[in-house]
Amino acid sequence: MIDYHLHLWAHSDRAREATLEELANYCDKAQSQGVEEIAITEHFFRFKQATAALKNWWDEVEPDPALAKSMKDYWDFHATEDLDEYVEIASQAKSMGLPIVIGLEVDFYKDRMDKVSKVVNDYPFDVLLGSIHWLGTWRFDDIDDELSMSEWEKRDLDKVWTSYVEALEELADTKTCDVLAHPDLIKVTGRKLDNNELRSELNFRMANAAIKSGMAAELSSAGWRKPVQEQYPSTDLLDEFIKLGVPLTTASDAHKIVDVADRTSSMRKMLESRGVSTLAAFDKRLKREVPV
Ligand SMILES: [Zn+2]
Ligand SMILES: [Zn+2]
Repeated sequence: MIDYHLHLWAHSDRAREATLEELANYCDKAQSQGVEEIAITEHFFRFKQATAALKNWWDEVEPDPALAKSMKDYWDFHATEDLDEYVEIASQAKSMGLPIVIGLEVDFYKDRMDKVSKVVNDYPFDVLLGSIHWLGTWRFDDIDDELSMSEWEKRDLDKVWTSYVEALEELADTKTCDVLAHPDLIKVTGRKLDNNELRSELNFRMANAAIKSGMAAELSSAGWRKPVQEQYPSTDLLDEFIKLGVPLTTASDAHKIVDVADRTSSMRKMLESRGVSTLAAFDKRLKREVPV
């Protein structure tokens, strides 16, 4: 098994320099849960290089000034670290023989993924995760933020889900990233679709977007730690991925050591019961197969 989605810093923390000891501890924790290889995948927006590449993007994509301001504040709080240092420490850990690959969680920035690529392609990343965390600048998964959560009351659920999938399709189409992270994150608060017809259509579109772009999709235990109380993706979307032949990774999306490799055995059971015996791992952005 692998844990291909790990953060060094909690969202409520300021970013700080990572240490080799910290990375070694992540590896130890993972191995104690039967995980042989991990990917460190800090958010792109934690780094000053993202600010330089995407300058004030929130003002250009968001008509609601309150949401744009909220994103600006969120960004200013988070984007404090140096991407060079982050990659350097992960590279050191890797060259010391720790079972780590170097990754990044890249968010979707509408019409700006070429700018993101220009930055990240200069680094020796093994794997890039593609994520939808916001629509416009609405951080629909920021469950501790009042403004973001109040927005849920104003919007139509079918339209929100459809916009989420459109963003995911656009992200996949840019071929900037290798793995769709937490593919149905939009359900995070527990607001799932009642409309079965739309649900099946969107499931197909997400799986098809992965196939067309050559991306893998992540099976993540993080949803079990959120109000939705289930893994990403839901079982019907997981089955759609498997049916269409989308390669899978497994991940905890931990932001602290206690969650590293969270629920690995539950995910293994889900995969084995569906006849999945291999996962996708990555070296320098090239896919290779590893056993479940
Ligand atoms: Zn994420
Ligand atoms: Zn994450």
